[in-house]
Order: sequence, then C-alpha cells, then structure tokens
Amino acid sequence: MDGFEIVDPVFAHYLLANASLEELAGGFRWIEGLVWMGDAGCLLFQDLPRNRTLRWIEDAGVSVYRAPSHYANGQCRDRQGRLISCSHRDRCLYRTELDGSLSRLIDRHAGRRLNAPNDVTVKSDGSIWFTDPLYGIQSDYEGGRQTSEQPPALYRLDPAAGRIVLMAGDFDGPNGLAFSPDERRLYVSETGDQTRDDPRQYIRAFDVAADGALHGGGVFHKVAPGYTDGLCVDEDGNVWASAADGVHCIAPDGRLLGKLRVPHRVSNLTFGGAQRNRLFIGGSHTLYAIFLNRRGALRW
Ligand code: MG
Repeated sequence: MDGFEIVDPVFAHYLLANASLEELAGGFRWIEGLVWMGDAGCLLFQDLPRNRTLRWIEDAGVSVYRAPSHYANGQCRDRQGRLISCSHRDRCLYRTELDGSLSRLIDRHAGRRLNAPNDVTVKSDGSIWFTDPLYGIQSDYEGGRQTSEQPPALYRLDPAAGRIVLMAGDFDGPNGLAFSPDERRLYVSETGDQTRDDPRQYIRAFDVAADGALHGGGVFHKVAPGYTDGLCVDEDGNVWASAADGVHCIAPDGRLLGKLRVPHRVSNLTFGGAQRNRLFIGGSHTLYAIFLNRRGALRW
C-alpha cells in the first residue's frame, strides 16, 4: 500500500485498504495543539506563530475559533469537557469555561514563573499533567523571547486545590505526553536542548503508581528520522508518535510496528471523529487526516 511502511504484519490490520492520507487544509505557519471536540463536531488546532486557535469542520473547512490565542500550544479537555490550553506568551495553563470565559489555572511553580507550557493531558482523577520546556520563550516566533526562571520539568496540577507538583525534573525539553489506556504508564517525549548540536531526543515511559507517583522513566523508543514532539495512544495501547517522515506506530513493548508517511514533518496529532477512528495530523503547515482500523483510547 502506498503511503505506509509495514514493519510488523499486525500494522497492516490497523490500515484500511481504501483510506489514505487526506489533506484537509493548508497554508498555516505551524500547526499544534490538535483536539477533537466531539460534541461540537469539530477539530480545534493552533496556528501557533499566527497566535490563533482554529476550528475545522467537515464540509465547512477552517475558521477562527480564538484570536488572539495567547500563543497557545498543546490542548486537551478535562472530564467536564472544558478545554485546557498551554500558553507560551502568558507562561500559563488556561481553561475555557463552559460559558466561554477564560480562567488562568497556573503560571508559577515554587514562586517563580513557568517557562512556556508545551503540552497537556488530563488523568481520570481530574489532575492535569503538563510539560514546561523553554522552547516557547527562546524566540520571538512562538510567543516572545523571555527569561527562564526555572529548569524544564514535568508537572502535575490539582486544579481544585491549585496545587502544583514537580513530577520529573531530569528533562532537557519535555514535550508531548499521553497516558496508556489503563493510566498505569505515562509516555513523555524528550526533545532535548535544541540549542545544542546533539540534543537528547526520545520517548520516555514512566510507571504511574496508584497515588500518582512516577517511577522509571527510561527510554521507551527513539523514532528515526527526526524526533517525537506530540504523541497519542490508541485503544490497544499502541503509541502513535510524530516524526520527521510522518507518524510512527509503536507497540506497548517499544517495537516499531509501522509508519504512516506524511509529506511534511509532523508536530502533533490526535484521534477524533464520531468513532475516534480518524487520526488528525499536524504536518508542519498542512492539516491532514486518515481513517484507521483502530480507535483512539477512551479513558473515561
Ligand atoms: Mg509539543
């Protein structure tokens, strides 16, 4: 089949013979933060350098959802369906309430400002997990150059108490993150210190204890070519990871099962559609989607 690379025969069963990569819209500066809004029948995503959150609707195309977006990057929904967004410019997480107003959830840790929250996910207990690398404040392109006040890190936020906990500080550049379907594992991509010639770049896997503590955190997989920014998980626990040549599907044991080839470097991706069997892909400046014979994980 064209457009695919099958490494393990099981991957052929994840594909549909008559479904290939579709180009939905193009001309964006840099796509990020894809999130499916099933109740609204739309996909939200960022044109990050353009400071806009956009909305794609089947048959209607792309329109502006929010401008300015506060240079928002990763997004997800909480258990109440509210949108949680990472702002580079404002160095915070903000939440869109059901009446449309915005609430700033957190912008500090240990009395110092966060750097530039990059990506976010919510656990079934309502805790919000997010990464805080320096990328978004290192240039004027994605939010404005600002001074870092603390090292890159992975955090957990209890939004009810406003309590933020440092979960891992041994990252150079924590980036995309996703829980396994049973939430016993947390995948986090390390995209490294990109001011260096040889940044550390691989996906890490943490074991999540019942009390939320993390253990392990060793190398789960390293994509090639390129590196993994955003990632998501399907119903079987496979990891669908962004890479320079498309999307790589990685089994829970770390083996590469196959690839979806995309013409441009992939930044982030999410499952969506009425059956959660459509993978929406941010391919640099172009929005793509492909129907798969697999569904995205449904954790609650
Ligand atoms: Mg990212």
